[in-house]
Amino acid sequence: MSKKKLTLTISGNVLARAKEKAKNLGLSLSRIVENALDYFSEPKVYCFSCGFRFSAGEADICPRCGWYKCPSCGACACVLGEEGVRVAFYMRKTLMEIFSSSDV
Ligand SMILES: [Zn+2]
Ligand SMILES: [Zn+2]
Repeated sequence: MSKKKLTLTISGNVLARAKEKAKNLGLSLSRIVENALDYFSEPKVYCFSCGFRFSAGEADICPRCGWYKCPSCGACACVLGEEGVRVAFYMRKTLMEIFSSSDV
């Protein structure tokens, strides 16, 4: 796929920290931003229960728990115990903060 140039304006502090960490890990900022934008535009998630990776946009949403239903095994957050639901909730909260949206 063809590569395009992207110009962004972000906090100098964040950029300096990100450059340092990316350098230490041998990653490019372009790759990190590309992966983040890829996820943002078309989230792909793993099933809590069977580990199947699926596109969130193509999955049904459970009316009871509000989570995506796995297209492979049919599981949603209803299969999780109280502790599992809490883990999933806070993992998702992290994603929502990263992407400034609940649609992730
Ligand atoms: Zn599954
Ligand atoms: Zn459910």
